[in-house]
Amino acid sequence: MAFGDYFDEKMYKLQGTEEMKEIQRKKLISRLNSSYSSNEFFRGYCQDKGIKDISSIKTIEDFRKAFPSVSEPRSAMAEMLGKIWKGSLPDTMAYLAGISKKDYTLMCATSGTTGVPTPYFFTEDDLRIMAKGMSRGVWMCGLMPGETVVHAFALSMFGAGVPMVETLIRLGITVMPVGAEGGKEKLFSFSEMFGATVIFCTPSYAEHLIDTEPERVKALGFKRVMCGGEPGAGIPEVRKKIQDGFGCPLTDAMGLIGGMCLFSCDLDEYAGLHHLSDDIILFELVDPDSKEPIPFEDGAVGEFMITALEGNPLGMLPRISAGDVVQVFTEPCKCGNPGWRMKVQGRTDDMLKVKGVIVYPSHIDGVITGFVPRVTGEFRIILDTPPPRVEPPLKLKVEYGEGVKQEELPALADEIGKVMHNKLRIRPQIEWLAPMTLERSEMKTRFIEKAYEKK
Ligand SMILES: [Zn+2]
Repeated sequence: MAFGDYFDEKMYKLQGTEEMKEIQRKKLISRLNSSYSSNEFFRGYCQDKGIKDISSIKTIEDFRKAFPSVSEPRSAMAEMLGKIWKGSLPDTMAYLAGISKKDYTLMCATSGTTGVPTPYFFTEDDLRIMAKGMSRGVWMCGLMPGETVVHAFALSMFGAGVPMVETLIRLGITVMPVGAEGGKEKLFSFSEMFGATVIFCTPSYAEHLIDTEPERVKALGFKRVMCGGEPGAGIPEVRKKIQDGFGCPLTDAMGLIGGMCLFSCDLDEYAGLHHLSDDIILFELVDPDSKEPIPFEDGAVGEFMITALEGNPLGMLPRISAGDVVQVFTEPCKCGNPGWRMKVQGRTDDMLKVKGVIVYPSHIDGVITGFVPRVTGEFRIILDTPPPRVEPPLKLKVEYGEGVKQEELPALADEIGKVMHNKLRIRPQIEWLAPMTLERSEMKTRFIEKAYEKK
């Protein structure tokens, strides 16, 4: 298998166009009808929703009216699995997908932002769909066969781990699976030994490498840093730090599982993630509170819902929430690449409301990072009550930078407070900590300290 077996240039160029809407409609209607006739679970699901005649659904609008959106896919799935349990999780998932357990070739799980793993099961067809989606992102950023990728996401049982390695191999891109578990010594020595040209990792791991080994990071001479798994690579201050630290462009990426593919372009000013899998995944926006559809227009903000138009790993559930609140941009991007774009604002479960103002930990991270080296960049949001509602002021613990004097701290806190007030419309209360007080994580960054759990 090689790149050309997965990449379809015609389909790539159709992303985000009017023509694509008709392709989506046809694929959705055909999938609903074929699933209804071949999949016992899906038939039961339709009956539960009171759908008597699947052939009466002819448009995406009909589809939305017939199927309610699923905001909590994890609990909806757990409830459903309980009802149809077939003795084991893989057997039950296979039944749900209308296949047999032996059709699965790979099983893994994403760590999930809540810490509860979400299992994923892949058939050969699902792996092919992932490579198809991913081929468009790597095409857009010019990551072609001939490059050597050092893979530094967590490898073990992680969505962007082995499945990502498998996808790169299919696309003919050489990959070195060091993994985040390998630690930075292995990352440096193997990258030098094998001549890696590109690194894949989380933004917090990229920052960790820059913070601890700035010279060695620069000396690697990478052509590109590819980040995902967290929103950091879309935050201007974090982008600047990673691009300056590595001395090369930074791509922000999202998706992979289910063939979803969102990649940022190389414009100086971050333009969001170009969505390149309209023919594989149907996207919609809904209001995070009422779950009512929001028109998909330039600048619209909402919780995004997805429906797989191909494959099985997302299950057969239509209109499930990915748990993110995003802003979409439908006007063509200045870079000339196809696809509508989106900027992730934050997770629905990370969302904080400080006196009605919506704030995300990633936004606070952006402001704090802008004050490095006077701060280390590490901080925690202290919550005295469960989110999302926060009684002002929002409490932060922030590490001051090496060499910063105690007497300088009140003025620095005041300065940070002013920037937060201008950018985020909140005035935080800052408690200062000495450098290296907070625990460092090489995995997903956790910004929240749940003080209310300790009470
Ligand atoms: Zn662009």
